[in-house]
Amino acid sequence: EELRGEISGNKGSRQVPGYCYSLVQPTPVRAPRLLAWADELGEYLGIARPAEQGPAVDALAGNLVTASMKPFAARYGGHQFGNWAGQLGDGRAISLGQVRAVDGSPWEIQLKGAGPTPYSRRADGRAVLRSSLREFVCSEAMHALGVPTTRALSLVATGDAVVRDMFYNGNPQEEPGAIVARVAPTFIRFGNFQIMAALGEIDNLRARADYTLRHHYPELGAPGPDAYVRWFEEVARRTAVMVAHWMSVGFVHGVMNTDNMSILGITIDYGPYGWVEPYDPDWTPNTTDFGSRRYAFGQQPRVAMWNLMALAQALGPLLPDAQLLRNGLDVYANTLADTQHELMLRKLGLTAQFPDEDRALTEELPQALSEPEMDMTWFFRQLSHLAPALVAASGNEDALFAELIAKAAYSVAPDEDRNLLKWLHRYAARLRQETASADAIRAGMLAANPKYVLRNYLAQQAAQAAEAGDLSVLERLMHVLKTPFDEHPEHEALAAKRPDWARDKPGAATL
Ligand code: AMP
Ligand code: MG
Ligand code: MG
Repeated sequence: EELRGEISGNKGSRQVPGYCYSLVQPTPVRAPRLLAWADELGEYLGIARPAEQGPAVDALAGNLVTASMKPFAARYGGHQFGNWAGQLGDGRAISLGQVRAVDGSPWEIQLKGAGPTPYSRRADGRAVLRSSLREFVCSEAMHALGVPTTRALSLVATGDAVVRDMFYNGNPQEEPGAIVARVAPTFIRFGNFQIMAALGEIDNLRARADYTLRHHYPELGAPGPDAYVRWFEEVARRTAVMVAHWMSVGFVHGVMNTDNMSILGITIDYGPYGWVEPYDPDWTPNTTDFGSRRYAFGQQPRVAMWNLMALAQALGPLLPDAQLLRNGLDVYANTLADTQHELMLRKLGLTAQFPDEDRALTEELPQALSEPEMDMTWFFRQLSHLAPALVAASGNEDALFAELIAKAAYSVAPDEDRNLLKWLHRYAARLRQETASADAIRAGMLAANPKYVLRNYLAQQAAQAAEAGDLSVLERLMHVLKTPFDEHPEHEALAAKRPDWARDKPGAATL
């Protein structure tokens, strides 16, 4: 009600100047069928797991719109790969409205792949099972790892085919379609503000900002210039915390365009994302970014800063002096450094005691890790198991480190592990200065270093099996990713390093 919405419905792709969103209807699909359900999220939202077919699944597929729903697609713009792209908007995502969770908090439910909207441009508004499954699994895996993220409630097969050219080789294939119901307090992005500023729609810009403050940042007080400044600082702080978490678990978003940056600082829009296996700051899962590697693993902190500057530029017209937003960028840089350091100390079983030496220790690890081909997840998990032996100083460190590297590495050329070995010896000496018991240190590290992450080939296997009608691979994967710090002896294989055949198989560029 506070925002201007266009009511003209589903009448084709178009520019929608002057409005914040468009009221639309999802386009019905042929045969909705529930493939997966996030039980814990369902319980929190007070929604019971539906049967495979029926009215609830129809609603989650967009086939049933009840009187209390008010489906809409949001208008936003964005910078794609550094270039202003103009109007983008929800081209295949349709929000149904809000539900209240058991604690009373409101959550928006959005169907991704529910058919065309005014913002679909030349695309079909649909999503393939492969990409919807990837979004479903990764949202919930990230949540279980403690990474700020949108959630996913359901994965529903549509029974319709969708055509995609998976390898951009002029050979489009039919793939089964599917819809994810994703859930977040809001899906507002940096781009929702950018489009208003870019087109000089200052009234819409202010209305959007005030709406966001009132509904999502009420603690910042009444909307106005002072609150906008505090708000930008808080968005910057949350964005830093999010990116620090990505870096600590090896998550690479893959498409950090400003339209894929949440105003809440939560991970949004799971597309060609990936997980670092050999630790490599230059790695990206996005085949369309293989040239510039703009969104590679190690670039993410800098890109988020760039995106915050774009947001600051969009909010400038609301302030007497845009320079007031400068401090938010410092908040970002400081929070990022502090949070990355804090998370790394936890991964290493260290408590903050020696600020300068510990900074040097944590800051030198990435370089040392990237020289040999070390699997990031294995390295930290095995290091956790090693901690008691290191604390005991039994004198066999050389052998232990050699074994650690042998287990965690894909390949080590002669001498490539020299810096890492040096680092490990320094680390062992530092670990012995901790006062906690060896067992407590190990337990703390095991709670900070996951055994299970969504390796790229695992997502691919789950998708292929689901396409063939076998959901057991997906269910197994969800089972371990829900408690990724626990041991699941029956699923050791899902914690293994990537097999050789799965090297360089991103497999998700076309979604
Ligand atoms: P993304 O790169 O996935 O963040 O998407 C960029 C823009 O393209 C957004 O406006 C999306 O809504 C839109 N888009 C992506 N895929 C489709 C599709 N299959 N149909 C309609 N719009 C799409
Ligand atoms: Mg997007
Ligand atoms: Mg188990």
